[in-house]
Amino acid sequence: MRKTPLLDLKAQYRTIRREVEQAVMGVLESGRYILGPEVEAFEQEVARFTGTRYGIGVANGTDALLLTLDAAGIGPGDEVITSPFTFFATAEVISRLGAKPVFVDIDPNTYNLDVSQLEAKRTEKTRAIVPVHIFGQPADMDEINRFAEACGLFVLEDAAQAFGSDYKGRKAGSLGHAATFSFFPTKNLGGYGDGGMVVTDNEELTAGIRSLRVHGRSHRSKYHNARIGYNSRLDELQAAVLRIKLKYLESWNRARREKARLYDRMLKGLPVVTPTAREDRTHIYHLYIVQSEDRDALLKGLQERGIGVGSYYPVPLHLQEVYRDLGYQEGDLPRAEAISKRSFALPLYPEMDEEMLQGVVEAVKAFYR
Ligand SMILES: *Cc1c(COP(=O)(O)O)cnc(C)c1O
Repeated sequence: MRKTPLLDLKAQYRTIRREVEQAVMGVLESGRYILGPEVEAFEQEVARFTGTRYGIGVANGTDALLLTLDAAGIGPGDEVITSPFTFFATAEVISRLGAKPVFVDIDPNTYNLDVSQLEAKRTEKTRAIVPVHIFGQPADMDEINRFAEACGLFVLEDAAQAFGSDYKGRKAGSLGHAATFSFFPTKNLGGYGDGGMVVTDNEELTAGIRSLRVHGRSHRSKYHNARIGYNSRLDELQAAVLRIKLKYLESWNRARREKARLYDRMLKGLPVVTPTAREDRTHIYHLYIVQSEDRDALLKGLQERGIGVGSYYPVPLHLQEVYRDLGYQEGDLPRAEAISKRSFALPLYPEMDEEMLQGVVEAVKAFYR
């Protein structure tokens, strides 16, 4: 039986090994290891790639969210609207700043924020909205921006899962006031360690985040502090690796999309719900998520057949233990709750071949027989 992992990072490394090793050696020889020329070049390349003016490299995707909301002035007493169906970090940073996450139910097809429910969740304390481009498909940004503009809200895209996807011809990252990326190794643009970035057109916000990432340093000198900040910086090794990977990203994303289309076709007729991809945006399938009424048994069956699978996300954030004080009950956000019991990821990465995909689909069929 051939084993198929959910993700194979070594397979990708093998395709770029020579270039990566050269770049890493170059950094080691350079004597600059944190916030140097590789980071600066990478910041500019990501800004250019996404069609924004500024890139600010930070330590990880969580900090990218945290520093941006902090620089935007979010704090105690504020409410920030976001999705309950995302990685915990999206809401965590809001709480970390002393603000309150307000969860809006999701679209049952795309799993992104249901924009028709935004108005009902708005109060006079609402200051920002953090849409997540979940699993690699941009949220309904036109509607979100229209809503935010009408109420004067700050819009931060959590684009951790959507590097390179686009929406009506514009790249994820350029669709709100600011956007954040994660370069955690499993993300579709991932380093060999932690990393993150903020992109924005806003000069003042950029200056604020650049200051916050180095302890709130003022423009006067390293030893003048204008605010309470963080130590959150991107390192040269990660930037050097990511600059190489950025060159291949579009072709890797294309490969993901092709593989997703093959799965869509091969899974037809089986009792699993395949992903919905909207026509006016590109889904880059950070994860290929399907739904099954028999999820837990199916996951077990696939694992027994050597197929790597993962449940995303089994606990919607409004029902997390730590958020009991927010006062949500089961039944408050019924779609996120129902989908969290049915959804899971099948293996998908650019280096997978068709035979492997067929093997996965065969295993699904075998389970249902
Ligand atoms: C991965 C991820 C993050 C956090 O990124 P880290 O680099 O792991 O800190 C935030 N939001 C979403 C949606 C993510 O998938």
